Amino acid sequence: MNPATEEVIATVPASTPADADAAVLRAARAQRAWAALAPADRARLLRRFAIVVDDHLEELAQLEVREAGHPIGNARWEAGNVRDLLDYAAGGVERLSGRQIPVAGGLNVTFHEPLGVVVVIAPWNFPMPIAAWGAAPALAAGNAVILKPAETTPLTALRLAALALEAGLPEGLFQVLPGAGPVVGNALVEHPGVAKVVFTGSTPVGKQIMAKCAAGVKRVTLELGGKSPNIVFDDADLERAAAAAPGAFLDNTGQDCCARSRILVQRSVYDRFLELLEPAVRAVTVGDPADPATGMGPLISAAQRDRVRSYVPQNATAAIRGEAPGGKGFWYPATVLTPATADEPVAVEEIFGPVAVLLPFDDEADAVRLANATPYGLSGSIWTRDVGRALRMSRAVAAGNLSVNSHSAVRYSTPFGGFRESGLGRELGPDALAAFTETKNVFISTEE
Ligand code: NAD
Repeated sequence: MNPATEEVIATVPASTPADADAAVLRAARAQRAWAALAPADRARLLRRFAIVVDDHLEELAQLEVREAGHPIGNARWEAGNVRDLLDYAAGGVERLSGRQIPVAGGLNVTFHEPLGVVVVIAPWNFPMPIAAWGAAPALAAGNAVILKPAETTPLTALRLAALALEAGLPEGLFQVLPGAGPVVGNALVEHPGVAKVVFTGSTPVGKQIMAKCAAGVKRVTLELGGKSPNIVFDDADLERAAAAAPGAFLDNTGQDCCARSRILVQRSVYDRFLELLEPAVRAVTVGDPADPATGMGPLISAAQRDRVRSYVPQNATAAIRGEAPGGKGFWYPATVLTPATADEPVAVEEIFGPVAVLLPFDDEADAVRLANATPYGLSGSIWTRDVGRALRMSRAVAAGNLSVNSHSAVRYSTPFGGFRESGLGRELGPDALAAFTETKNVFISTEE
């Protein structure tokens, strides 16, 4: 369904557990042949896949606009991110070197062996990039991949699988099984032929998947929720901090696990910051995602809009409330709330919508205490002109991805992942391929 118009744009059959069985068999066969290919040939095929994605960038972006309601500018970036991930991973195929370790009596070497069949379970908020974060390095390391897209966003995933075949990737190596998480997703997680599960989604489902993986001692990477702080000190460039704050919680209509939705502002500049923030929030244009001037589109579904609404009581006095179109579509206005206490649900639970809270703090210690006062630890930003403070805060905030005087987006070339209940393991960056291998140690005697 197009979330901006509520029009049904395609009907996709839901895969069954029997489909999962057949896909794992096909994947296992394809993986053996793939791992046996010369590394340079595997790299070349992945580069060709990147080129074919690039040739279809606009088509993929338009599909994302219609299926997920993302503004076209974002959607183009997302399709380009898939291309870049494939390119970056392809560069790793021939660099996946083991080590030679000095020992007595022979030669000791290590190999990075592929795991086998890897399952990637993706959410709906960034359907294309998150699918590729798992799939590209897994394929590059010599694995086969089965991707289970979210129920609401299967179309770009299906198109990517078709483009992989067009690029010459072997049949069965990269398969997409759309369908219900608890049905086909669960069948894949429990399947004995699956070696690793890469899950991105909500923390409760991530916990269930980790428990199921434990039963088969399967490898698992979890990228879960967040409730990340945007910490603004009184010595910061307040104009810049206020201008950047809306993007950090409104991008993707707040449906971003890294959204900086807890804006913590030093008490001495709180009023001034709020004054600067209001016009910046109001300046974000909300409307037709296909229009290049649009900054914020709709939420993904009626259910998600209900969830967001449930956090903002009808009579809540918002410090800032933006505009949203009426009529068809799952629209919700940008909203900034000032809860009376920092432990209200709206201030600690992940909302996954365009809603932020503004909370004052007194000093560095207070900022650290507030920043770490949720079960999450995914990302965060620190605004200060004091380099010592920036470093102290960077070490003290319990989160996997921090930025200073910016809200840096996730980059394919740097590691990404969560502390605490935000996840387990790391994706992306120079070590991404290693997470899809087992280290094998071999000793060769030189004794006569
Ligand atoms: P979700 O957990 O409901 O679903 C995620 C995926 O898991 C979907 O493909 C779904 O079909 C599948 N799934 C659901 N139940 C399953 C089961 N029992 N077995 C196997 N698969 C199952 O989450 P969502 O609503 O799609 O996404 C929103 C959530 O994802 C938010 O909480 C957000 O923070 C989180 N998220 C985290 C990151 C990150 O990198 N940390 C990125 C994006 C989204």
